[in-house]
Amino acid sequence: MPIYTEKQKDYEWLKRHQSPGYVCDTCGGNIRVCWGGAYGIDCYILACFNDVNHTGLRRDFALSPANIPGFNLSDAGKKRRKKLEQKYGSKNIRAVAKYEGVVSLSRSMAGEILEAIWPEAPAAEKARAALLCSTQQLNPLMKHVFLIPFNKDKPNESWATVIGINAKRLMASRRGAFSYIDDTPRIMTEEEQVKRFGSAKKDKLVVIVKLKDPQTGAEAVGYGEWPLKKRAWDNSKKQYVESDNEPYGTDKGNSMFNMATIRGESQALNRLRPGDMPQGIMVMDEAIAEAASKEGIDDANVIEGEARVLDETTGEITETTTDSETSSGASESQKEPVKEETGHESSGQGKEPDLLSLEFKNEGEFRTACLKHFKLSKSQTDKEIPEFDLSNPGQRKLAWQTIVAVYHKA
Ligand SMILES: [Zn+2]
Repeated sequence: MPIYTEKQKDYEWLKRHQSPGYVCDTCGGNIRVCWGGAYGIDCYILACFNDVNHTGLRRDFALSPANIPGFNLSDAGKKRRKKLEQKYGSKNIRAVAKYEGVVSLSRSMAGEILEAIWPEAPAAEKARAALLCSTQQLNPLMKHVFLIPFNKDKPNESWATVIGINAKRLMASRRGAFSYIDDTPRIMTEEEQVKRFGSAKKDKLVVIVKLKDPQTGAEAVGYGEWPLKKRAWDNSKKQYVESDNEPYGTDKGNSMFNMATIRGESQALNRLRPGDMPQGIMVMDEAIAEAASKEGIDDANVIEGEARVLDETTGEITETTTDSETSSGASESQKEPVKEETGHESSGQGKEPDLLSLEFKNEGEFRTACLKHFKLSKSQTDKEIPEFDLSNPGQRKLAWQTIVAVYHKA
């Protein structure tokens, strides 16, 4: 049997699923739509060039050059820099433009970039994001990592580190290629939902994402969901009013499908590359994250990590996925954006702000503080932060943020 026939999917669907976008999942060869007469099939078929009996199609993930750190940007560089300057202000960005396209940022380099782009973000969040950049080879100048304020300029303002979905794909692809199979991402049919979950979630949009490593044959499935309706208190009507649960950034191309898909794909990537993905970090579409990192997000526009949505009936946060790794948000208050760990110790942000705001007149004071607060000897400290010049006040500050982020346990 061919991969698909016109009787299973309509002709236009078959046309959209041929090479070069898709390849045969059996052999990786090209697939095309042709008339099935030669094979005794009385309609159009989608079949492998190599063998009409091959089944399955897949879409191989390929990074665009701009997403690959270290890609030579010499030509495109000027244009990109101009864009960056418009975005972040030329003075700030000129200082860090040299790091554009750098593969392995040190914590201090990443810290400088984060400082240039988000000077107003809390030091602990910047230190944590810098650590993420250096350990995972990510670069904020390449839209891999964002700092996003929640409830900006309000008393309950707080910040979170977010990675773009392309950065997550990049990390996953470093372990080898992966592909989307079974025509995913797509909305799960009710029948599929009943089969998988026991019942259909009629109040949610559910998206399924199936990934495969063509080299090992390993497959991983992720499910993402998004509540179709939201309830908000209407003070003039003195009652709850239900409305479509459009996510933040709908005016910028975001959608419920997009939100559910990113959740599903993120879960599938965690499962395809267990142990290689940073845990408990929100993943967002880059365009949406970029806008959010500038404007901030209100609690009213809940755009949380994979693990939670608001229960429309009780207003409480419920678990939405079966991904045990991202379950830590379940008991948190609705008012607090997700505070999760990078896999390293907590930065302790908000718990003991005094520690972070300590300032040191010289290297000696810095070393005394390392010993006093974290029992770090001189040689241990040097091992931890070899990249910082401690005689430089700015570098000393970054070094301290890093030490606190790594060693301060909440
Ligand atoms: Zn084939």
